[in-house]
Amino acid sequence: MTKQHNISRRDILKGIGVGALGVAFFQQSTPQTSAQDDMMMGLPLAAKYYGFMIGDFQAMVIADGSGAVPGAIMGVNADAADVAAFLESKKIADEEGNIPNMFDILVVSTGDDLILFDTGLGASDQLVSTLGAVGISPEDVTKIMISHFHPDHVNGLSSDGTLTFPNAQVYFPQPEMDFMEGTPDDSPAAGTIQNAMGKLQSAIDADMVTYYNDGDSPVEGITAMAAHGHTPGMMVFMIESNGESLLNIVDSAINVYTGTENPDWHIQFDAIPDMAVENRKKLFAMSSDDNVRLFGYHFPFPGIGYTVRQGDEDAWTWTPTSY
Ligand SMILES: [Zn+2]
Repeated sequence: MTKQHNISRRDILKGIGVGALGVAFFQQSTPQTSAQDDMMMGLPLAAKYYGFMIGDFQAMVIADGSGAVPGAIMGVNADAADVAAFLESKKIADEEGNIPNMFDILVVSTGDDLILFDTGLGASDQLVSTLGAVGISPEDVTKIMISHFHPDHVNGLSSDGTLTFPNAQVYFPQPEMDFMEGTPDDSPAAGTIQNAMGKLQSAIDADMVTYYNDGDSPVEGITAMAAHGHTPGMMVFMIESNGESLLNIVDSAINVYTGTENPDWHIQFDAIPDMAVENRKKLFAMSSDDNVRLFGYHFPFPGIGYTVRQGDEDAWTWTPTSY
């Protein structure tokens, strides 16, 4: 792979086919739900995982839970009434103006490697138990791609100094580490950085951390692409196998509706808002104009789909994958 992956449209993305359907993944078994409140008449109410193919790679999205966030934070540079009206038009805000926010973990098996993309909040055993339901033990995970240092992406790495996935090499973005190490202790980000360093420390001590840069391919078919803005060093990932692809855009957008339809709105969580807007638009344009299938970490489960451009504008509608 060459180093031309900073979210430019690439010829390599042409000729993407329709994803294979109905193929068994991992050790297919019945989804298990651990939470009592997911059960009604013995039936699980919420899907916990979704399996699909990316060419010859087997892939899965695991729902690591969901929460609610104030809808207003999705457009902090916009008129608050406009943001509220938009959320209302989408029927996604509750009476307090909160909107749902998912945490979707992408898992890819290349055959040689079993790879997690980020590790979730670590607030429950849902990730580990759902992996267990499809026959994967924590020891089976060989690599973990960390996209950025926010707690909902790193907290599942370790608990009380014990690595959750003891055999996994942890890939951490070098630009993010450079930012973290260069940030003074009195910065507003210091607490979040300290949390991330704490979660990483066991892997660092075990010499299990590899730092990666834009264009690096830690595994053949998986290429990191710089898409900074949400955090100063966030990376996204192009996953390619046998003529198919999935572009994991991580947190380049948080809420899929505000992100696609109002991409210029600044998200409160974005560290460098203008850069986040620019990269968000490039990624959505790749999907609409080059037919690139996307995955968003906080999008409604399973977070996979395509954007469709609205006329000639830099605004899109989201077409989720059917399943
Ligand atoms: Zn996030």
